Amino acid sequence: MLNFELYNPTNLVFGKGQMEKLAELVPKGAKILLAYGGGSIFKNGIHEQVINNLKGHEIVEFAGIEANPHFETLMKAVAIVKEQNIDFILAVGGGSVIDGVKFISGAVNYEGDPIEILQKRILIKENAIPFGTVLTLPATGSEMNSGAVVTIESTKEKLAFGGSALFPKFSITDPTVIQSLPKRQLQNGVVDAYTHVMEQYLTYPHEGHLQDRIAEGILHTLIEVGPKVVEDPANYELASNFMWSCTMALNGLIQKGVPSDWATHMIGHELTAMYGIDHARTLAVIAPSLYTVMFETKKGKLAQYGKRIFNLEGTDDEIAKEAINKTVEFFHTMGMDTKLSDYTKEYSETADFIVKRFDERGWKGLGEKQNITLDKVKSIVEMSY
Ligand code: NAP
Ligand code: FE
Repeated sequence: MLNFELYNPTNLVFGKGQMEKLAELVPKGAKILLAYGGGSIFKNGIHEQVINNLKGHEIVEFAGIEANPHFETLMKAVAIVKEQNIDFILAVGGGSVIDGVKFISGAVNYEGDPIEILQKRILIKENAIPFGTVLTLPATGSEMNSGAVVTIESTKEKLAFGGSALFPKFSITDPTVIQSLPKRQLQNGVVDAYTHVMEQYLTYPHEGHLQDRIAEGILHTLIEVGPKVVEDPANYELASNFMWSCTMALNGLIQKGVPSDWATHMIGHELTAMYGIDHARTLAVIAPSLYTVMFETKKGKLAQYGKRIFNLEGTDDEIAKEAINKTVEFFHTMGMDTKLSDYTKEYSETADFIVKRFDERGWKGLGEKQNITLDKVKSIVEMSY
C-alpha cells in the first residue's frame, strides 16, 4: 500500500431534520454571506428553513451561482465579502454552489490575481474564509472534500483547484431534500458518484484490499439504489443510501494509499466547457472510451470489477471487455446518452481542440500511470463521438 495521511475536518451532519442544528454550527455572532444558485431553494422551502435557523445573525445574500460556476460571477461575491466584512459563508445548493463558495473562500485573501488559483492551480492551504454547506443535491462529494471546479467564462476553461483550507467546517446533508430534484439531476448524481469511485478504483491491481472493498461496496449500493431512487426520491431508505454513497465516493477515504486516475473528469470538463453538457453526462460519454483505449493498463482491475460487481465469468480478457459493456448498460439504465453526437452535432473538431488545450497547459500524460498521452486523449475523444 502507498503511504498516506488522512485529514478530513468536515463535520458531516447527516439525516432528517438536521437543519435544526444550523444555529449551533455557525460561529456565534458571525456576519454571514448566504450563497445559493438560481432559486430552487425558494421553491422547496430550504431558503426559509435556513433563514429561520440563522435568526440573530446579520445575513448578506448572494444569489445566482450558476451550474458549473463562473469565475466572473464568483468575483462579485469576493468583492462583497471584502466590502461587507463577512466572517462566514454558508453555501446552500449542489456541487456548483459549494464549489463556487470554495473559490470565494480562497480568493478573498489571495495575494495575487485570483484567476491564478485556477490557471496555476494554486493550493489554498491557509487564510481562507471559513464556510459551511447545506447540500441540496447528492452527487459531487464537494460537501466533504477540499476540491472544486470553476469555469472561466471568458476563455471557456473549466479548471479544478483545491487545498487543505477548503474543507467545509460542516455540511448538513438531509436526504429528504432530494424530493424536489428533477429526474435529470438525480440521474446525474448517481452517475457522477459512480464515476468518482471508478476514477479511484479502476486503475491497476494494487495492495489496497480494503480500499477496493469499500469502493466496490459503494458501486454495488449505487447500482442497487440508483435506478429506484430516481423513480421514488421520497423513499427515505433509498434517498439516505444514495446521499451517503455520494459523499463516501469522494470524501477522500477510498483514495488513500492507492493510485487514482481522474482523466475521465479532466476530459469531461472540456466537454462541459465547450458544449454546456451536464458534468455527469460528460463522464458517461468519456469513461467507456477511456477504459477501451487504456485496456492494457486497466484490464486487471476491469476483470476484478467484472467479477465482483457484475458476477461475470470467462477469461480475464473476456470479463474485462464485458465489464465495459455492463458499465455502459448501467449508464443507459440511469438515463445517460453515452455518445458525444447524442448531445451536439458540432463534435468533429472536439478531439483536436482538447489535445491543443492540454498541450498548452503542459498536460502531457494523465491517469494513474501518466500514460494517457495526448495521442491517447485524441483516440478516447474520437471514440466517444
Ligand atoms: P449543480 O450544478 O450544483 O446543480 C444542478 C441544478 O440542480 C441547478 O440548476 C440547481 O438549481 C438544481 N438543484 C440543486 N438542488 C436542487 C433541489 N434540491 N431541488 C431542485 N433543484 C435543485 O449540480 P451538481 O451535480 O451537484 O454539481 C455539478 C458541479 O460540481 C459541476 O461543476 C462539477 O464539475 C462539479 N463537481 C465537483 C466535484 C468536487 O469534488 N468538488 C466533483 C464532481 C463534480 P439552483 O441553481 O436553482 O439551486
Ligand atoms: Fe464529478
